[in-house]
Amino acid sequence: MRGLRSRTAALAVAGLVGLTACTGSPPSPSPSPEVEPAVSAPTAAAVEPDLALAESTPVEDSVYPDVGHPDVDALHYDLDLAWAPADRTLFGSATVTFRAARDTRTFRLDLGPALDVSEVTLDGEDAAYAHRGKDLVVRSPLTEGDRHELVVTYGGSPRPVPAPTTRRDFSTVGFTVTDRGEVWTMQEPYGAYSWYPVNDQPSDKALYDISVTVPAPWSGVANGRLVSTSTSSEDGGDVTTTRWQLDEPASSYLITLAIGDYTHRSNRTASGMPVDYWIPRGLPGAYDDLKVAAKTVDWVEQRLGPYPFSSLGLVLTDSQSAMETQTMVTLGNNDYVRSAPVILHEVVHQWYGDQVSPADWSDVWLNEGMTMLMQALYEADRGGFDVARIVDAWRAEDQRLRDEYGPPGDYDPRQFGGSNIYWSPAVMWDELRRELGDEKFFEIARSWLAAHDNTSVTRQQAFDHWEAESGLELTRFFDAWITGSTTPPEGLLGG
Ligand SMILES: [Zn+2]
Repeated sequence: MRGLRSRTAALAVAGLVGLTACTGSPPSPSPSPEVEPAVSAPTAAAVEPDLALAESTPVEDSVYPDVGHPDVDALHYDLDLAWAPADRTLFGSATVTFRAARDTRTFRLDLGPALDVSEVTLDGEDAAYAHRGKDLVVRSPLTEGDRHELVVTYGGSPRPVPAPTTRRDFSTVGFTVTDRGEVWTMQEPYGAYSWYPVNDQPSDKALYDISVTVPAPWSGVANGRLVSTSTSSEDGGDVTTTRWQLDEPASSYLITLAIGDYTHRSNRTASGMPVDYWIPRGLPGAYDDLKVAAKTVDWVEQRLGPYPFSSLGLVLTDSQSAMETQTMVTLGNNDYVRSAPVILHEVVHQWYGDQVSPADWSDVWLNEGMTMLMQALYEADRGGFDVARIVDAWRAEDQRLRDEYGPPGDYDPRQFGGSNIYWSPAVMWDELRRELGDEKFFEIARSWLAAHDNTSVTRQQAFDHWEAESGLELTRFFDAWITGSTTPPEGLLGG
């Protein structure tokens, strides 16, 4: 998830122990570097989507049951989008290839009420439908296991969705438009439905092809690899179309769309993988902050193994937060969000959160606990101090967090993304790391990812894996940390 801003671990620790790592970098004093227009960025050939990769077992969410529909197992979304910034109108055609997850007489997807549906076809035939609130209901029976292709044609002015949180860095989720008509989307725990018809729950991973047409010289940025860019003339002037392909399945909260006057830069990791940066033309100095992403990949690879996807980019937006959108990290524009620890945090999530995702929002701690520990280790590594200085500060906050937000694995649904899902499980993982030693700890952390590549998982699977691989009896330890109402005593592992 997005790095915490005002209540972040890192920032709080900076206050407690005098770190400077998280105060962000000063504006670049150098003159504007040469920038490439986005349309000249290199492209990669599109491939035929391997739908079998995206078969999953959708569930009804225990925290947010009103979003997502377990009848549908989406395999592939082909989104053809056009954005008119002047009148803030989105036109979309969504082709959703899906598997019926069970027999049903009608089925539904999530789609925001601000969008008007003009046509729905199922396997090429007109389908009867109703768009009630945020539910698009299609009145066609399905037989479990059958594959279908649903095409939804829609348009309107998307509205973001209220976020179930009291966090200060975001109050809405989904499609967000700036004063100038630029677009960004951050949509955790849901909100993808504000801009396309979707099974908006993390157990249903799917592949994506996203095509975005906008007035030139603006361009659209989305997940995966850029497979083509083209400019053509329309009645209103030139338009640019960018086509993006995500060839490994993603949960809907990890999908991103950003539209603006983007320029492109790139550098490489130590292993030679390109990292692409999509930077608004008016902020050329931002590259000096963002380019550390390649080095953060090197740092994470040394602990969690090779980067799990075929591409990595970062897109800078007008948000005030940051989000680990799969293969295309979405960053907001402030010094904190543009800092190396936040960039590292979102990069770690490509392994913990994106490659392996929670099936249910009660397990978002699976993402944030390990990622927060990795961020602390990175900050300690850079700062030359012991990570205990950070972890001890978090432990001291644990009881207050449980009282305010609930246990990390059973939190108040109105307090999504509280520090309890970050710091408390990070302290837990650090205790296990100290018990096992770094070598064994990271060996198990890697084998967990390998065993569940491209899937959505439950806490029980994680508990079973760590017990089996460590040889430790961990039930009491995990239960106390994840669902207990009081801070677990130290020494649970030894006892
Ligand atoms: Zn996070």
